[in-house]
Amino acid sequence: MTPSVLVTGGSGYIAGYLIRLLVEQGFTVHTTVRSLAKEAPLRKLLAVDDTRLHVFAADLRADAGWAQAVAGCRWVAHLASPLPAGVPKHADDLIVPARDGALRVLTAARVAGVQRFVMTSSVAAIAYGRGRGVHHFTEADWTDLTQPGISPYIQSKTIAERAARDWVAREGGGLGLCTINPSVVLGPVWSGDYSASVLIVKKLLDGSLRALPDIGFGIVDVRDVAELHLRALRHPGLAGERFIASGRFMKLREMADVLHGALGQQAHRVPRRTAPDWAVRLAARFSPVARAVLGELGSVRHQDASHALQVLGWATRPVEQSIADAARSLIERGIVRV
Ligand code: NAP
Repeated sequence: MTPSVLVTGGSGYIAGYLIRLLVEQGFTVHTTVRSLAKEAPLRKLLAVDDTRLHVFAADLRADAGWAQAVAGCRWVAHLASPLPAGVPKHADDLIVPARDGALRVLTAARVAGVQRFVMTSSVAAIAYGRGRGVHHFTEADWTDLTQPGISPYIQSKTIAERAARDWVAREGGGLGLCTINPSVVLGPVWSGDYSASVLIVKKLLDGSLRALPDIGFGIVDVRDVAELHLRALRHPGLAGERFIASGRFMKLREMADVLHGALGQQAHRVPRRTAPDWAVRLAARFSPVARAVLGELGSVRHQDASHALQVLGWATRPVEQSIADAARSLIERGIVRV
């Protein structure tokens, strides 16, 4: 019999793909939403066999609901974590739910006798705080939170992953925790409620980004990130493991070129001008979003995903495809008018 799996944060971008994949593979899925008012729209969006999906209310900021959500599950994929479009006033608005929420789900999972716990961390916990220049990262690296200008989101992912690992080492019992650390996740969106990561493509397409700062990201496809979660859940003996999930690093300049090449006239608002560093620094005086990328100016972060290939036979599709598919889906769904 296939085990039941808890996927936290069912309304999320990656979680939607993972839930579909799990149900297609014959699993029964438990998932959480902050309010059950979201259950009906979620079921409609996912359009999976309703009898294989059980929806529970649970918020990362409170204990209620987690024990019920995980009861009867042998595996957990913990994806819920705040990923806002903007920068919050207080870093703790992200850090506290990310860290304490992960510990709540871990605690409920241990009590329920869960065997495998796959936590969605991020390269945010690996590859930041190193400044300008070309850097190469593996799973052995951690973001340096002592550096100035680390964004609240990056802090939240680093602190939450460390806290989860420390907790499991101290009191995890038989719980096997591994993390998946994706870079920027792109690919088709299903609705207007998409992840903040897709905003990069949206802002390029709709012209709200007028010039291109000298920043970039590793990119990975949402379909492949879901597949990697499935592989990590299925694979025995991954306790303590960490898997970078990333395709190649790409500057915004190159992402803009990909959009021009793939979409032609539909990409007419995608900027071609580069924003000089001094202009970004000036903008950072007024804009928290510009301030959040200051530390990334001139930085190239290669994130090596070969561990996932060696252990789980996993690789992501070409990043050009993920960018173009994200853009096309934003246009097809009327989210961006071109
Ligand atoms: P998403 O679409 O924004 O999903 C985040 C999920 O977390 C949503 O279901 C959200 O619920 C839930 N959530 C947030 N705060 C919560 C709270 N206080 N209590 C309960 N649930 C809460 O983002 P995603 O891209 O799918 O991200 C999923 C995971 O992957 C996150 O852990 C994220 O950090 C990680 N990740 C994402 C990327 C990326 O580029 N997208 C890259 C690396 C890692 P609501 O719908 O109610 O807000």
